[in-house]
Amino acid sequence: MKWTLQLPVLFLFAATAYVLFGGQAGGEPDLQNSDVQKPDLQEPSTTKKIVFIAGGRSHANGSHEHRAGCMLLAKRIGALPGYNAVVVTEGWPEDETVFEGASAVIFYTDGGGGHYVNKRLDSFDALMKKGVGLGTVHYGVEVPKGRAGNKFLEWTGGYFETDWSVNPVWTANFESFPKHPVAHGLKPFEIHDEWYYHMRFRKKMEGVTPILSALPGADSLKRKDGSHSGNPGVRAAVLQRKEKQHVAWVATRPKGGRGFGFTGGHFHHVWQNDNVRRMVLNGIVWIAGGEVPTGGVFSDTPDDKEMDANQDKHGKLDKRVFTYP
Ligand SMILES: [Zn+2]
Repeated sequence: MKWTLQLPVLFLFAATAYVLFGGQAGGEPDLQNSDVQKPDLQEPSTTKKIVFIAGGRSHANGSHEHRAGCMLLAKRIGALPGYNAVVVTEGWPEDETVFEGASAVIFYTDGGGGHYVNKRLDSFDALMKKGVGLGTVHYGVEVPKGRAGNKFLEWTGGYFETDWSVNPVWTANFESFPKHPVAHGLKPFEIHDEWYYHMRFRKKMEGVTPILSALPGADSLKRKDGSHSGNPGVRAAVLQRKEKQHVAWVATRPKGGRGFGFTGGHFHHVWQNDNVRRMVLNGIVWIAGGEVPTGGVFSDTPDDKEMDANQDKHGKLDKRVFTYP
């Protein structure tokens, strides 16, 4: 039984290898030949391209460091076998061909009414309909209610909806995680950040899996009601019903394609936390259709020098597009 199933597969594999490597069936490709290593000569499915859209400067030093954050994540994605990454700084790319061949796009940008995607919902939707993954980080999870909000529900399963979601700074304590590839390798941890919560999700959480959930303290709702500060819905959920709030989640789209949202990342220093970085890197690999290792994506902890590099305080760089590796 075992052999009848495996022999045809082995034969196909050997035949493919024979064609690809010029008759060296079962042998190694000739790595001396630099052409072999050029990405455009590889099978398209073997290299996954991740495009990071990094927003411009917006907040005080050390917060909303979109460029520095994207670059340190992209460097780690680009170090994984079978992946490369592109970071576009200062917002939307001048040349949209950067999206060609992408397996996933990450928005780590300012959002709300000024989210770069608001004016490009149709063209971006065409990309999403091809099954390209979308990850949204911090303010990048917020778009206006209505058409943009509904698109975010389709693409990533959830978003920050004004007068429903809130944006306090608090310490979240994550005690347990679901059985899901994006939770691989996570250990219980707590961390202080501007964790948006009470996000708007698809009805009945259809196709949505929360990854990071915690119950915020009452002090996170001390502010008066307002578009981002409080509302009766969030008070009932947290103060009365004591519902854990989902601050990171993943979603699948019914016709193919995956998304995630991660509401932390206000403070740049959170990227030094191995659990935070692992969860986001797992998420990127997963929405790109990749296999997340059972222990999660391993990556070096950035040292203080790397953390300082590329922060907005250092000024604009001489170009906007950076590739990894
Ligand atoms: Zn923030």
